[in-house]
Amino acid sequence: MNEAVLATTGLTRSFRQGGETIEVLRGVDLSIAPGEIVALLGPSGSGKSTLLQAVGLLEGGFGGSIRIAGVEVAQQDAGARTTTRRDRLGFVYQFHHLLPDFNAIENVVLPQLVRGAERSDANTRAEELLTTLGLGHRLTHKPSQLSGGEQQRVAVARALANRPALILADEPTGNLDEATADIVLAELLRLVRQEGSAALIATHNERIAAKMDRVMRLHEGRLG
Ligand code: ADP
Ligand code: MG
Repeated sequence: MNEAVLATTGLTRSFRQGGETIEVLRGVDLSIAPGEIVALLGPSGSGKSTLLQAVGLLEGGFGGSIRIAGVEVAQQDAGARTTTRRDRLGFVYQFHHLLPDFNAIENVVLPQLVRGAERSDANTRAEELLTTLGLGHRLTHKPSQLSGGEQQRVAVARALANRPALILADEPTGNLDEATADIVLAELLRLVRQEGSAALIATHNERIAAKMDRVMRLHEGRLG
């Protein structure tokens, strides 16, 4: 049996604001199979980032169940969550969040060292990923010396470095002009497929969502 890499059941999240309670997620049921690429589509404010933060184990305060690779993680303690994040998940954000003082290859090597890889293996892996993304000639450039599209490619390589079962991406091309966004998204999808990872990719752009295996729409706190 192919166990889901991600399964949420009845996921809820609300925020208190000025004496009012805003229910952002009202019972999200979502299942993603190994290798499947799913678009999370919804307008600004619909709760896409809130859902990705829950699944990414970045914040508490959620109700319901989250299973990652068959393991219930919603109630795990901070240490176990960190381990799950490190071993199972890869993240791509709208802004690249690369370490500014490290060059491209070092930014892709570091998460592998944190996980215990040998430096030479980590270097080889980083160079392969970056070369596949067309950055073979930019390995020693710092983030500030790269274009926006190149920075996001490094972020994609970093997210995939530890071969995560699931990539979580929050508007990964949202900061790029349309032509660059299309190219970077195509490369992200190609590499995720090549690596066999699954992905949940938030976007408010129908055209971008249509390029994925399945589109889930977030509407009034639920998926349809
Ligand atoms: P999206 O990513 O789809 O644009 P978000 O998940 O960022 O949407 O936000 C969904 C809703 O939750 C918005 O109405 C937002 O104002 C509210 N929200 C998000 N985070 C917080 C917070 N920390 N405190 C209060 N309200 C929040
Ligand atoms: Mg958002």
